[in-house]
Amino acid sequence: MSIKKVALLLVIVALVAGYFFFDVGQYLSLDYLKAQRGAFQALAGEHPVAVLGGFFALYVLVTALSLPGAAIMTLAAGALFGFWVALLLVSFASSVGATLAFLAARFLFKDAVQARFGERLKKINAGVEKDGAFYLFTLRLIPAFPFFVINLVMALTPLKTWTFYWVSQVGMLAGTAVYVNAGTQLGELSSLSGLLSPGLLGALVLLGLFPWLARAVLAVVRRRQVYRGYDKPKHFDRNLIVIGAGSAGLVSAYIAATVKAKVSLIEAEKMGGDCLNTGCVPSKALIKSASLAHLERVPERYGFKRITTEFDFADIQARIQRVIGRIEPHDSVERYQALGVDCIQGRARLVSPWEVAIETVDGERRLSARAIVIATGARPLVPSIPGIDQVRVLTSENLWRVTELPPRLLVLGGGPIGCELAQSFARLGSRVTQVEQGPRLLPREDDDAARAVAEALREDGVELLTGHKAIRFSVEDGEQRVHTESEQGQRRLPFDAVLVAVGRRANTAGLGLEDLGITTGDNGTLDLDERLRTRFPNIYGCGDVAGPYQFTHVAAHQAWYAAVNALFSGLKTFKADYRVIPWATFTAPEVARVGLNEQEAREKGIAVEVTRYGIDDLDRAIADGSDRGFVKVLTPPGKDRILGVTIVGEAASDLISEYVLAMKHGLGLNKILGTIHIYPTRAEANKFAAGEWKKAHKPEKLLRWVQRFHTARR
Ligand SMILES: Cc1cc2nc3c(=O)[nH]c(=O)nc-3n(C[C@H](O)[C@H](O)[C@H](O)COP(=O)(O)OP(=O)(O)OC[C@H]3O[C@@H](n4cnc5c(N)ncnc54)[C@H](O)[C@@H]3O)c2cc1C
Repeated sequence: MSIKKVALLLVIVALVAGYFFFDVGQYLSLDYLKAQRGAFQALAGEHPVAVLGGFFALYVLVTALSLPGAAIMTLAAGALFGFWVALLLVSFASSVGATLAFLAARFLFKDAVQARFGERLKKINAGVEKDGAFYLFTLRLIPAFPFFVINLVMALTPLKTWTFYWVSQVGMLAGTAVYVNAGTQLGELSSLSGLLSPGLLGALVLLGLFPWLARAVLAVVRRRQVYRGYDKPKHFDRNLIVIGAGSAGLVSAYIAATVKAKVSLIEAEKMGGDCLNTGCVPSKALIKSASLAHLERVPERYGFKRITTEFDFADIQARIQRVIGRIEPHDSVERYQALGVDCIQGRARLVSPWEVAIETVDGERRLSARAIVIATGARPLVPSIPGIDQVRVLTSENLWRVTELPPRLLVLGGGPIGCELAQSFARLGSRVTQVEQGPRLLPREDDDAARAVAEALREDGVELLTGHKAIRFSVEDGEQRVHTESEQGQRRLPFDAVLVAVGRRANTAGLGLEDLGITTGDNGTLDLDERLRTRFPNIYGCGDVAGPYQFTHVAAHQAWYAAVNALFSGLKTFKADYRVIPWATFTAPEVARVGLNEQEAREKGIAVEVTRYGIDDLDRAIADGSDRGFVKVLTPPGKDRILGVTIVGEAASDLISEYVLAMKHGLGLNKILGTIHIYPTRAEANKFAAGEWKKAHKPEKLLRWVQRFHTARR
């Protein structure tokens, strides 16, 4: 604690101690007030300004120090100065006093409380930032909440001081008026308890709830306004229409069918969407083939003189298609029809908040539904770099049709997709150059994780050009070239195909959103509220088209919220919960992550303790010849609560699950350490990381005593 804080605390403690030591409370009682009323009135008659000023200062002091007696002083004000003057005086004095108490508590405790409980207070902070004035107003009006407790608690939140002041003044006015009025009839008062009759209390509670009621009514009116100009059908063809049969759409339709809703699922292209056909599945199948080809380069690691792999790239692509074919039935029309989903092949467009037009091979069809889920996904973003239309551009969409390995592959983009594909093609034998305009790969991950991946890519033969921007493409003498710019100057690099992996843009074009006024934000993703609703409360979005995390498992997670909210709105809706979201980059080594990392902790100013366990120490990893990487766990300093984990290494994407479960269910490192892990497995790395944390927190003092105990027993 700083000297200033200690000094302020001492002054407050001294004043409060003085109050009790000199028994100042005896002068702030109803009996004393009644007995001295005449004397006080005479004094006020003789020196009105001094008495008013003195009273104001005393009132401010009592409330600022959170001392008992404010109620009696309010009665006194009524008795001495009459209703209106007293109301004015007490209203300002109590608000100023409350604000001083608020400022003092904020100065003394807010930083410490937020630093210690910041993560847990996130939701409360967000609520106060949004609705703090409403909460405070309600609390001020309902006398059941003690005045000084409100001052102190509000100080620990992000509520603005000015908001606190004026809301307090307005909110306390009704209660102040009641007490001041009672003070004007002091002679008839026998106790303070009778002042707030049940009727009066009820009225104050209603007044406190008024802003909330008003807001709810306003929301209903606004909702109605949104639909103005559209004819709501009297009956609907479906309970739910889902547009897009990728990960998000399939799960939405599945949930609807499970809860016996009538649901149509509309898909313009292939069931399974991006993940099955052009994303996760083919890329992971490619990574597996590439990892086998890689063995050719490291035979001695496993005791071989030579390992040879012979292949045609076309066969590898054929295997990828076989893998897709094996998984396809999970997402097929047959399976979903059997589940009770009406699957429609066609391109959908919204024509009203309840109606969808579908272009099918047999012409246009229209369907209405009480609710609609937009799950149309995203597609690779191809930047408009000059000359890009003259060169051979590959993206995650057309890559899977290529049957010959490009001898020289340029990969644009250093994100997860760019890294996974650059490494795979390099391992299969392409000469890969990866260009990333940022200073390093994997910008969302910690520097050490990104460095491990960069090192591995270089070892696999990828020429990494970070800090390089592709500014132009050209074709000279039949040779395709990219022109890059960096701090070191300009370069021209020849290539046979360029694989563009610089981000993804949501599929919202042609959906009729503009006509309905449904807005989009970053990269075309839908503007949605916390319940995944568009401006029309019956139209929802989920998956890549919703963002912000573009992963299959997040699409499925969001789909639950979108479908349940869509089907049960009016009864119960849920805010999408993004607290524990894991993801992985499937390079070798893999990078898996859940929760906070060091980079984010720094950006957000969150104090963390970092525990690290090196996988080069792990028996199983050594035996397998893949002993690279680490487990890094972030906890609040000195506390057994997991804030985030990054794992780099083979199977990191599987290993992280133990930490995901721990975070989801509030389990700490002691619990992981106390769990039996099979020997020898990679999963032991999780336990050893917990062990590192435990070692750093061993009870040194206690152990010294235990040592003495053992010495004595020898
Ligand atoms: C190369 C690559 C690798 C990836 N690897 C992983 C990974 O390992 N793990 C992971 O979690 N994620 C991965 N992803 C991301 C993952 O594929 C997506 O997050 C996921 O597919 C999103 O699902 P979705 O349902 O939102 O969208 P999509 O799967 O894109 O589905 C949307 C569907 O909507 C259809 N559609 C669009 N407009 C209309 C319309 N108007 N009418 C009817 N239908 C329409 C589309 O045809 C499409 O089938 C990867 C992506 C790529 C590109």
